[in-house]
Amino acid sequence: DKILEVRNLKKYFNTPKGLLHAVDGVTFSIERGKTLGVVGESGCGKSTTGRVVLRLLEATDGEIIFEGKNIRDYGKAEMVKLREEMQIIFQDPYASLNPRMTISEIIAEPLIIHKKCKNKEELQEKVAKLMETVGLSERLTNTYPHELDGGRRQRIGIARALALNPKFIVCDEPVSALDVSIQAQVLNLMKDLQEEFGLTYMFITHDLSVVKHFSDDIAVMYLGELVEKAPAKELFKNP
Ligand code: ADP
Ligand code: ADP
Repeated sequence: DKILEVRNLKKYFNTPKGLLHAVDGVTFSIERGKTLGVVGESGCGKSTTGRVVLRLLEATDGEIIFEGKNIRDYGKAEMVKLREEMQIIFQDPYASLNPRMTISEIIAEPLIIHKKCKNKEELQEKVAKLMETVGLSERLTNTYPHELDGGRRQRIGIARALALNPKFIVCDEPVSALDVSIQAQVLNLMKDLQEEFGLTYMFITHDLSVVKHFSDDIAVMYLGELVEKAPAKELFKNP
């Protein structure tokens, strides 16, 4: 059961040096509830692929099929639902989050934008539940992200991504900014959440050791192309 199929995806950027083929005809699919690790050196097009799949960026060409339906054929209401079902976790959530918002405000924001709560009490309850889910202590509710260490900041990013009950999450270098010991904690949390909520992950990283144990399948990108895709077990098998 494939939750996502991507066919011949292309994303070109106009740059001062000419047209840059950041993603150049990439095809892959992801099974529901599984993790696809997307690896490759910096600049090979991993992040752009993830952003095009999420439609944070518009594709130059290609097909994105989510839940069996081409995204091009989604109507307006379906598109709103899609924005809830697909989420992203960034490398450093603090960089993409408003530093003047408290943790609870950051987590509440998607719930407010998507009108998921009838009143303030329900909102507070949901935010408290999300904080508990990602292991953030209740006493941190009114603190600011810059007051926390990287691991806790990333837990905010994860809670925010979970707020709208997503099915599919693009994880864009989610642990790359963290100390190795903290990396393991965040990866374990993500693994538990995957099982609890049946999440599908597209896990982008330049660090093979991070996805080695975490991914079911691994896609290797090189200069905008997908040059290899195999089960993680096969790729890391000793010769
Ligand atoms: P990766 O995630 O593998 O490090 P990216 O997807 O971020 O790679 O980038 C792929 C290529 O596209 C790089 O050469 C990068 O400089 C370029 N690129 C990314 N975003 C833009 C943009 N908005 N405008 C122009 N070039 C971009
Ligand atoms: P970079 O990876 O280049 O450091 P960011 O991760 O901060 O950049 O953000 C990249 C893009 O994603 C920006 O265009 C930003 O507006 C958008 N963006 C940031 N946060 C979100 C979010 N929570 N949901 C959707 N889009 C976002």
